[in-house]
Amino acid sequence: MAESVKIKFWGVRGSTPCANSENMIFGGNTTCFQIESDSLSELLIIDCGTGIRNLGNHLLNGDSKICGRIFITHPHWDHLQGFPFFKPFYKENSWFRVYLPPQDQSGCKEILQGHMSNTFFPVTMDMLDADMDCETFQPGKLNMEGYSVDYMWAKHTVQTAIFRFTINGKTIIIAPDNELPHDNSQDSKDFIKEFCAFVDGADVLIHDAQFDNKQYKEREGWGHSSYEKVLEITAGCNVKHMVLTHHDPDSDDDYLTNLDSKIKASHSQYYESVGFAKEGQSIIL
Ligand SMILES: [Zn+2]
Ligand SMILES: [Zn+2]
Repeated sequence: MAESVKIKFWGVRGSTPCANSENMIFGGNTTCFQIESDSLSELLIIDCGTGIRNLGNHLLNGDSKICGRIFITHPHWDHLQGFPFFKPFYKENSWFRVYLPPQDQSGCKEILQGHMSNTFFPVTMDMLDADMDCETFQPGKLNMEGYSVDYMWAKHTVQTAIFRFTINGKTIIIAPDNELPHDNSQDSKDFIKEFCAFVDGADVLIHDAQFDNKQYKEREGWGHSSYEKVLEITAGCNVKHMVLTHHDPDSDDDYLTNLDSKIKASHSQYYESVGFAKEGQSIIL
């Protein structure tokens, strides 16, 4: 029997953390996901938003040596801000490999060193105790022990990956920042076609749904999707579990709870499950 795969949501907020009481059901931490499986010998983490701090604290309760790979979709603040607060980075004997798609002229190491330069934070990369290695993830497929990962380019304001992980025959696609365009230009049609082919048959698709259609009209080109557009496009893509994420900091629990019920009623026939991501939630495949 195939081993199970678990996806845990440590942070599901977009743009900035919003630890207000009205956001406690869906959570206030920014993007961080973890994939677990018996076939993985190391940690597998996607994005370093503020949610990674809780993940790090959780890990410190276990083994003394912590090792893993971290895939970062792109270097916007909400995907990096938790990086220096991940306590396993301060444990000797631990090691981490961090992967980031190329950013114009810069690679992973330069970006992280810049983010951790002492203008912005007192701890620099070379002060971390774990063995750290930064790799610029050029387009293509990486075959790791127990899984593989590749990506397509998202439509976003910087070079951003839509990651596709294959583990134990399960496909998990992670696209926290991606704008599914509403216009009918040839570019947009081509992009949607490529996107549909990439996500087709996914066991889990975690996708940006920061806006609704009304907000999208005012924020077209900001690099984020409306939930209506995501559902319209993915309904025909044979996705099993559809998870909407990167909630706007101003989308409170009442708003998201209401929308969640609405889309479950209107779209459940297209997926095994559909809903808005909640911090602390897990999906087991
Ligand atoms: Zn983001
Ligand atoms: Zn972004």
